[in-house]
Amino acid sequence: MDTAPPQLTSHEPATGELLWTGDASDVDEAVERARAGFLPWAARAFTFRTETLRRFANELRGELATFADLIARETGKPLWEATTEVEAVMRKVDISVTSYAERTPQRRIEGAIGARSAVRHKPHGVLAVLGPYNFPAHLPNGHIVPALLAGNTVVFKPSEKTPAVGEKLVELYHRAGVPRDALVLAQGGVEVGKALAAHRGIDGLLFTGSSTTGVALNRQFADRPGTILALEMGGNNPLVVWRPADVEAAAVLVIQSAFLTAGQRCTAARRLIVEDGAEQPLLDAIIRLMKRIIVGGPHDSPPPFMGPVIDNDTADNLQESFLALMMKGGQPLVQMERLDEDKPFLRPALIDVTRVERRPDVELFGPLLQLIRVKTFDEAIAEANATRFGLSASLIGGTPDDYDRFWASVRAGVINWNRPTNGAASNAPFGGVGLSGNHRPSAFYAADYCAYPVVSAEAEQARAAIGVGLSNPVGDR
Ligand code: NAD
Repeated sequence: MDTAPPQLTSHEPATGELLWTGDASDVDEAVERARAGFLPWAARAFTFRTETLRRFANELRGELATFADLIARETGKPLWEATTEVEAVMRKVDISVTSYAERTPQRRIEGAIGARSAVRHKPHGVLAVLGPYNFPAHLPNGHIVPALLAGNTVVFKPSEKTPAVGEKLVELYHRAGVPRDALVLAQGGVEVGKALAAHRGIDGLLFTGSSTTGVALNRQFADRPGTILALEMGGNNPLVVWRPADVEAAAVLVIQSAFLTAGQRCTAARRLIVEDGAEQPLLDAIIRLMKRIIVGGPHDSPPPFMGPVIDNDTADNLQESFLALMMKGGQPLVQMERLDEDKPFLRPALIDVTRVERRPDVELFGPLLQLIRVKTFDEAIAEANATRFGLSASLIGGTPDDYDRFWASVRAGVINWNRPTNGAASNAPFGGVGLSGNHRPSAFYAADYCAYPVVSAEAEQARAAIGVGLSNPVGDR
């Protein structure tokens, strides 16, 4: 009798209860299945693939409550927020169909004297998708739907922190009629991710996760220029508040930017940049709101604003980062509090790091906001750009001219005005520069990395003549 314990487990962050157990998948087998599934799936009419994915959206609609409940349990995010995640997963199908038609359409190019070319797009083949834990359904789905629509098959490895959501997502696609060899689930941790990335049977890798992993993957793919690699990574995102007309509204936007999803959004504001000497009313309003934020379990009543972070290790690391900033001269304005020693509930924290020299340019992925005071708007822009990342940036307040300068000077893939740094629209492109992405934006532009253009010069009959450069045929002399 085999009594070996399962290799993988997933625990609910809010309660510590065991949610899921399972074994790591065999990567060779997963890739082989997806390879076998590729030609039949690619040969299906586009309308067939579209209808199949629309059925998937319908399956989801029927399971909205149960799926949202599972996401809430496995990530710890509030149920209301998990529900919005499922809605985003459903909307992705129609958005991807429109995007496919707009970004990768068929075109005819008419040339001189009847010359005609066609531009069409072909799927790459087998695409591996590596998912993060913070939006365990919406983000992998943002790769999977466009990849399948374009005719690729997919091997999907969910984050090892959210295997139950990954399994359920794949079950819903299969139930809707996506063939089992068109979408193959590969469960596992970093080792499985590495094996999948290294596998010569994949034609591309679509990754959403940290820049540390993304850079490692980029290196790994250096000798495989023919294998497409799309990297959606993190940020160290700036939020500049400059002479806002409405301080209370500005404070709300700061809170939303920094602490939604317990700060576990790639677009979350990490650095709040304010005008030195004029900052106090804004800080007072922010701190008042921070104290009112309800941190709680996903199903608590009244509903919390934010839940725990994903696990105890993550909470420990964030607490250590907060202390390290203090040791370097950071002034805590709101302490990072752990609500329960054994659980990863953190209260949001704010620390003034203006005097910290050589501030670490890293992504602190949690409810920790760093304050930087500057004298001039130019300094604010310089601070905003003092990062190797480039995902999102916002200006709150400022004049239209200030915003023009901010927009023109700041390097990021999302630049907003009087809106939070997060909450990007799914029907727009989404990606970052620097350490945040490799110029393969996702969301509405995901179609671009799911297919490649093929140009064909075509004529119904071969008609050809060589006009110059030939001597007369033998015998004509
Ligand atoms: P992560 O990089 O630790 O893991 C992401 C996935 O990669 C997981 O499935 C993991 O198992 C796998 N993985 C880890 N190391 C690997 C390796 N060496 N080789 C192959 N696979 C490997 O990221 P995470 O902690 O799960 O997610 C949080 C991060 O994701 C944050 O940095 C956040 O900013 C980022 N993120 C980015 C976006 C975006 O669209 N730009 C969206 C959400 C999250």
